[in-house]
Amino acid sequence: MWYWVILFLVGISIGSFLNVVSLRYSSRYSVFSLKNNGGRSRCPHCHKTLRWFELIPLLSFLVQGGKCRNCIKSLSFQYPFVEVLSGLLFVFIPWYIFVSRAPFIGFVNGIDPYIETGLYLFVFSVLFLVALIDYHYHLIPNELNILLICAGVLEIIFYEYRGIFQTMQYGVGPYSLIFNGQSSIYINRLIAMMFGAIITGIPVFLSHGRVMGLGDFKFAIALGLVFGWPTVIFIIFGAFIIGSCVGIILMIAGKKKFRSMLAFGPFLALSAFIFFFWGEELLRGYFGLLSP
Ligand SMILES: [Zn+2]
Repeated sequence: MWYWVILFLVGISIGSFLNVVSLRYSSRYSVFSLKNNGGRSRCPHCHKTLRWFELIPLLSFLVQGGKCRNCIKSLSFQYPFVEVLSGLLFVFIPWYIFVSRAPFIGFVNGIDPYIETGLYLFVFSVLFLVALIDYHYHLIPNELNILLICAGVLEIIFYEYRGIFQTMQYGVGPYSLIFNGQSSIYINRLIAMMFGAIITGIPVFLSHGRVMGLGDFKFAIALGLVFGWPTVIFIIFGAFIIGSCVGIILMIAGKKKFRSMLAFGPFLALSAFIFFFWGEELLRGYFGLLSP
């Protein structure tokens, strides 16, 4: 029980870090720039330096009622929202790997599940940061795509070295066989990156970067390397569907005009999360609807 509480607290702290990096981000600096990210936190309104007890993730926000102690102006709802989501992510991924999935594939012993947990916590933390930065600034920094490429390479080394590569473990599961999910992880990832590039490359090229930018194109290739074939296809089409629904809802609500642009990165990140963990269930539901 205590493990989960600690994981949740670690997740909240990571969320707090993601908040700082995403809100302080400037395209003039690298995401990792100490110059840009360093320095004490200040109130965005009155610029008063925050004391240590005002920096405790989630707790400070709740105690202060979401307001600055000095100027009483409201603080962004992003702070608690991202912290709680990140906390839940850090509980959910280990729970999924150790509790939900492990009994079915005899994968409980050894260090493999620990490595997998660390790997995917890292991957989804980076995806979270991509979503936040793209939402705010409508761009995806190259550094974050490079981090994903590194994670993808580590993933290949890990699965190859341990000899446990299966396209059936995550994503669309056994449905990958219908799409000829290759038995070699190298071929699988190569195909996935190619299709990621083609599916996002066409709208980027045809719209001259208006519908989607070059950042989305590079992001889709990185997603291909991390999530593999055929899951990446579902991730991208899922993002189109989620993005269209959100766009239509915002248009009906009068919040967005038809031609104004929605950042695509958050939808790709959300769709990656959904299809990585529930791709198989979603496809089973879909095929269940088709069969009599
Ligand atoms: Zn203030």
